[in-house]
Amino acid sequence: MHQVGLLEKGNVLGMLEDLQAIVGPAYVLTESVDVADYLTDWTGQFSVADVPVVRPRDTKEVAQVVQYCNAHGIAVTPQGGRTGLCGGGVPMDHGPAIVLSLTRLNAIREIDVAARTVVVEAGAILETLHEKTLEHGLVFPLMFGAKGSCTVGGNLSTNAGGSNVVRYGNTRELCLGVEAVMPDGSIINALTGLRKDNTGYDLKNLLIGAEGTLGIITAAVFKLVPQPVTAVTAFLSVASLEAATDVLNLLQDFSGGAVEAFEYMPKDMVATILEQFPDMRAPLAEPAASGILVEIASSRAMDAEPLPDGSTRLVEGVMGVLGDLMERELVLDAMIAQSEQQRADLWSMRESILEAITKSGPAYHFDLSLPLSKVAGFVAEMNVVSADLGFRPVIVGHLGDGNLHYAMTAGQVREWADLPLPQAKEILFDLLAKLNGSFSAEHGIGQSKLDVMADMKEPAQLVVMRAIKAALDPNNIMNPGKFLPEART
Ligand SMILES: Cc1cc2nc3c(=O)[nH]c(=O)nc-3n(C[C@H](O)[C@H](O)[C@H](O)COP(=O)(O)OP(=O)(O)OC[C@H]3O[C@@H](n4cnc5c(N)ncnc54)[C@H](O)[C@@H]3O)c2cc1C
Repeated sequence: MHQVGLLEKGNVLGMLEDLQAIVGPAYVLTESVDVADYLTDWTGQFSVADVPVVRPRDTKEVAQVVQYCNAHGIAVTPQGGRTGLCGGGVPMDHGPAIVLSLTRLNAIREIDVAARTVVVEAGAILETLHEKTLEHGLVFPLMFGAKGSCTVGGNLSTNAGGSNVVRYGNTRELCLGVEAVMPDGSIINALTGLRKDNTGYDLKNLLIGAEGTLGIITAAVFKLVPQPVTAVTAFLSVASLEAATDVLNLLQDFSGGAVEAFEYMPKDMVATILEQFPDMRAPLAEPAASGILVEIASSRAMDAEPLPDGSTRLVEGVMGVLGDLMERELVLDAMIAQSEQQRADLWSMRESILEAITKSGPAYHFDLSLPLSKVAGFVAEMNVVSADLGFRPVIVGHLGDGNLHYAMTAGQVREWADLPLPQAKEILFDLLAKLNGSFSAEHGIGQSKLDVMADMKEPAQLVVMRAIKAALDPNNIMNPGKFLPEART
C-alpha cells in the first residue's frame, strides 16, 4: 500500500493513527489515488502533494481533529466543494498539514417555515439547499454557476456573491448565525436565528469571508425569502454601459426594488461562449455591444394575475417600461423569455462563461468592484489599454453590484507567454485604486491574490487583521499562508 505525506516524511507523531481513532480509519485518506482530487483546486493552478485528507462526520469530530492538530502544530485547511477560484481550499507546502473536508456534514437540520430560516450544515451543496427549501415554498437566494458543487461552508467562508446580490445581498447578509470550531478546538454555537442580538462582538462576521483562517464553520442559520409567483427574464441591448445604470434604476423604481439580477454580457463575452459551445444560441439577432441579462421577480399575487393575452401584470408592466426605455433610446433591442426553457437557456449561457474562457486558453481573471458611476469609464479605458498590450479582454459582470469579472485572454492572435501581464496588472490596479475600486469583489484572496493584497490593502487594516489572526490562532494552524500576506520588513 502506498501511503502519502506524513507517512513518507516519517509520520513521527503517529498522526494518521491518532486521526483514524477520531474519525474512523475509512475517513483518513492517504492513498494518492484517493487524495488527488482534494489536493488540486478548480483552476488547476494550485496543487500540493502528500497531504492526508480527513473527513469527520459531525461538529464534535471536527472539534477533536482541530484540537489534536492545534496541540501538535499541524496545519488544517478546511475544504468544501473546491470551487473557490483563488486557491484557498488546498494547503500550501508548509510542513505537516491535513485537508479537513466538510462534505460529510451535509444535513439540513431544520427549516422553520414561519420564521423563514434554515439551519444547515457546512458541507451541504448549495443546489441541494435550493431544492429542499423550495419544497416549502421558500428560496435561499444565493445563485451562481458553481451551485451544483460548492458548499454553504465555502460560500460563507468566501462570502460568495453571485447574481442575486443586487436584491438580497451576499452570503454575509443572508446569514443570521453560525456554529464553528475555533482553532483551539472549542465550539461556538450561535444558531439562535435571532435577528436582533447586540451581545458583544459579532463573531459570525469575523468567520464569514475569513477563508478558513480563523476557524471552521460547521453549520449556519440563513434567512429564506418567499418563492416568486411570477418573473420576467429578458436579454437587453442597452445603448451603452453608462445607459445601463439608468435602465437598472428605472426598472428598480417600477418594480419596487424587485430586480433579482442585472448581469452584464457584452458582445465579446457572448462570442466567446458561442465559440466554445456552438449549440448555444445568441439571444439577439444583432449582437449587443452592451448586453444585459435582467430578471425581475415578484411574490405578490397581484403581479401574477393572468391577463387576456396569457401574460401577467408584471410582464405587462415590464413591457411598458421597456417600451418607454426604447423610445428614449436607452434600450435598443430586447428579447423576453417566453418559456421556462428560454429562461434556462439564457441562464445557462450566463453561467458557462468561466468554463468558456478556461476552454479558450490561458487568461488572467480580475474580480473587481467599482462605484457604479465609475464602471463605464473603467471599462472604456481598460479595453483600450488591453488591446494596445495585445490582450483580448472578455468581461462579464454582476453589474447591479458594480462587480466586473475582467479576464485578459490572449485571443487567437498572440501567444500568452509573449503578453506583458505584469504591465497590464500594474496599469489596471493603478486605475482601480484611483477610482476607489476593490481588487477582490467576491472571490477572495486565497493564494492567488496575496501579492495584490500586500500591495494594495491599507497597511493599517492589515495590522488589525494580523492581530485578530494572532489572537484567535496563536499557533497559526488554520489555513496558514493564505489570505493574509506576511508583514513586510
Ligand atoms: C463556474 C464557477 C462560477 C462561480 N461563480 C461565482 C460567483 O458568481 N460568485 C462568487 O462569489 N463565487 C463564484 N465562484 C467561486 C466559488 O464557487 C465560491 O467561492 C464558493 O463559495 C466556494 O465554495 P466551496 O464549497 O467550493 O469552497 P472551497 O473552494 O472548498 O473553499 C473556499 C475557501 O473557503 C474555505 N472553507 C471551505 N469550507 C469551509 C468551512 N466550512 N469553514 C471554514 N472555511 C471553509 C477554504 O479553506 C477556502 O479557503 C464560482 C466558481 C466557479 C467554479
